[in-house]
Amino acid sequence: MAYLVDKKLSIVIPSHNEEKNISYLIDQIRETLEPTGYAYELIFVDDGSRDNTLNELKVNAEIHSNVFYVELSRNFGKDYALKAGIAMASGNAVITMDADLQHPPQMILKMLYHWEEGYDIVYTYREGENPHGKGYQKVTSRLFYKGLNMLSDIKMENGTADFRLIDEKVVKQLKLIDEYEIFFRGIIKWAGYKQIGIPYVPSKRHTGEASYSFAKLVKLAVTTIMAFSARPLYIISMVGLLFSTVAILYIPYVLISYCLGYAVSGWASIIATIAFFGGLQLMLMSVIGIYVGKIFMQSKHRPNYIIRSSNVVIVDNDLIRI
Ligand code: UDP
Ligand code: MG
Repeated sequence: MAYLVDKKLSIVIPSHNEEKNISYLIDQIRETLEPTGYAYELIFVDDGSRDNTLNELKVNAEIHSNVFYVELSRNFGKDYALKAGIAMASGNAVITMDADLQHPPQMILKMLYHWEEGYDIVYTYREGENPHGKGYQKVTSRLFYKGLNMLSDIKMENGTADFRLIDEKVVKQLKLIDEYEIFFRGIIKWAGYKQIGIPYVPSKRHTGEASYSFAKLVKLAVTTIMAFSARPLYIISMVGLLFSTVAILYIPYVLISYCLGYAVSGWASIIATIAFFGGLQLMLMSVIGIYVGKIFMQSKHRPNYIIRSSNVVIVDNDLIRI
């Protein structure tokens, strides 16, 4: 393979409690990239770790001149850490990957190959089921992508990963996005450009525990679907229309029964109907409420993350150590 050796890569790595993985990951990336001749920088984003991750980053930044870190003021979540890292990236392409070595560094070579072919985005998706996931995760993951594809306007492969290469022209556009909620996997699909997806087999987490709990995943699913589509609003209005049509058709029956003297004391059915429609209305209103809440949050224009410390500043699109 001939590589574009005059180009620089920015590798952005969100890290939350990854103390034992940092040095190993840096070694693996070095081993993979040194033979290619590309210049590269590693931008780690410490997303509110409670362990020794930040210290590990500082030590490695002393050893390697191309290792940079950004410490966020608290745990903002992976997508926000990614945004913080991408904001710093100065390379001709950005590669985002996890810190836990589940994203095999050797795959970067394949990404570079497709980038060289002229693709603007090379994303990866898991081949088959996640062999390292818990039992319920197989079901929830499949449901997540099914729900997302059905209810929103973007279509994503099952198991799409935050492991991708993005050309600088796309990165330039991504940096302009000013949304309160960010889900990069969706934004990447939405962005368009010349994209190619390549399958990968996730490795086992090198050390430590995955940070995503079941509750966090459910929240992610709901916010993502709602962030990418207003379709749930149309669905609830269709449900509303269906129920009101049934109710309207039911009224003449009630009136005729009353006139003919058939009306019986239907206390139970009235209570049941009121309870049913009351519940339905609350549910539909809560969907609208969630969207209103999102408008409220967006209208505040708060930053997506806050940087507490860093060993780098950007000057003329170059990273300068401080
Ligand atoms: N991560 C992060 N902030 C968080 C949770 C996770 O930056 O709040 C990072 C984590 O350090 C890792 C990547 O995101 O590099 C994926 O996280 P994890 O391995 O916990 O999740 P999974 O493998 O289940 O996707
Ligand atoms: Mg992981």
